[in-house]
Amino acid sequence: MAGQDATTGNTLRLLLVGGGHAHVAVLADWIKAGLPTGVEAVLLTPAPTLRYSGMVPGWIAGQHRADDGLVALAPLAARAGVALVLDRCAGLDPEARVVRTASGSTIRYDIVSFDTGGEGQGEALIGDDPRLIDVRPIGVFVERLTALPALRRIVVAGGGAGGVELAFALRNRADAKVRPEVTLVAGRGVAGRGCVLPGFAPAVQRRVARALARQGIAVIADTARIQGGALMAGGRSLEPVDGIIAATGSAAPGWVAQSGVATDPAGFLAVDAHQRSVSHPSIFAAGDVAARMDRALAHSGVHAVFAGPVLAANLRAAAERAPPRAKYRPRWNNLYLMNTGDGSAIASYGPLAAEGRWVLALKHAIDRRWIAKYAALAEKR
Ligand SMILES: Cc1cc2nc3c(=O)[nH]c(=O)nc-3n(C[C@H](O)[C@H](O)[C@H](O)COP(=O)(O)OP(=O)(O)OC[C@H]3O[C@@H](n4cnc5c(N)ncnc54)[C@H](O)[C@@H]3O)c2cc1C
Repeated sequence: MAGQDATTGNTLRLLLVGGGHAHVAVLADWIKAGLPTGVEAVLLTPAPTLRYSGMVPGWIAGQHRADDGLVALAPLAARAGVALVLDRCAGLDPEARVVRTASGSTIRYDIVSFDTGGEGQGEALIGDDPRLIDVRPIGVFVERLTALPALRRIVVAGGGAGGVELAFALRNRADAKVRPEVTLVAGRGVAGRGCVLPGFAPAVQRRVARALARQGIAVIADTARIQGGALMAGGRSLEPVDGIIAATGSAAPGWVAQSGVATDPAGFLAVDAHQRSVSHPSIFAAGDVAARMDRALAHSGVHAVFAGPVLAANLRAAAERAPPRAKYRPRWNNLYLMNTGDGSAIASYGPLAAEGRWVLALKHAIDRRWIAKYAALAEKR
């Protein structure tokens, strides 16, 4: 595969980089409707499975088994007629239309689509410390946490939905012999919006604050930082601490900006409403690695999932040398369901909030349906 010419006769090489939440929808489209005519497709991704991050807090709290939240990429690729290359993208040359991999190979393409997610930035924001565990990549996070069942005093850094859910989950950790003490260091927040879930409605923030207090999770409205070997926040030491979980959002992979493709100021790949690069028409991107230039859009799994079918339609059009037609138009409001680890969950929908065991049942049903859809596609003969 590596180093071959992209175009052999009339064959067009379509390269998918990253087996993320949007690209599984592209694979599903190719399984159902066939590969676009004359296309040779390749999926470059480091692991044969995708871990669905939405189920990780439930796994920590003992509501799912570790394998429950995995999408098997290898059988999906095989059924879609896509060659799977287990390696990592480490560089992109958009003029030569070549992707360089971490193992030193090159893969040429005619059309490329990126769905690699973002990279952890815990060390950059908090500092270097052996106790630091970044939530990204999520697969490595699960492995590291599995190896550390005895964490007693845990600090979760990050006041977004991921940090909040992980604080709840770790407080209710199923394999802990002693219930862990958990502190959420939520950042300084946005003026007038608070530090916990600053992008969410006040009704949601109030419910989350009450649930954190009820479960004995301390909240610090400041940033966490390693200073002189100690974890500090707001000018005071948080020691002793056994584990520091960095849920501090994702950074753009360095190879994006180095490639010369257009990016947003943070270095994410700049795309239009068609999920196409604003500088290079043969490049598409979706999920956390991309940044929409026509509107502000948070990096979240919901958008990666919903952009998937749009991306699939536009890759099909591009393979037929037609302009992209489908646009990803995010809904006004998205439903976020936050697991509180104790058998309940909090729902957020625009200005509305709700809470209860039924919310968790709804979350489990939605999550399991998403996983089951891909499991069925992977198994179908
Ligand atoms: C604990 C937690 C809970 C969350 N819960 C939710 C939730 O309930 N709802 C929600 O909307 N969002 C949630 N999020 C956010 C969500 O995880 C991300 O927004 C989402 O995973 C982004 O999807 P993606 O497809 O962009 O990337 P990913 O899901 O990260 O997929 C990236 C894929 O690319 C591969 N890859 C990575 N680097 C490379 C490379 N260099 N070359 C090739 N392949 C590569 C990876 O192995 C993976 O297969 C949560 C996040 C966390 C941390």
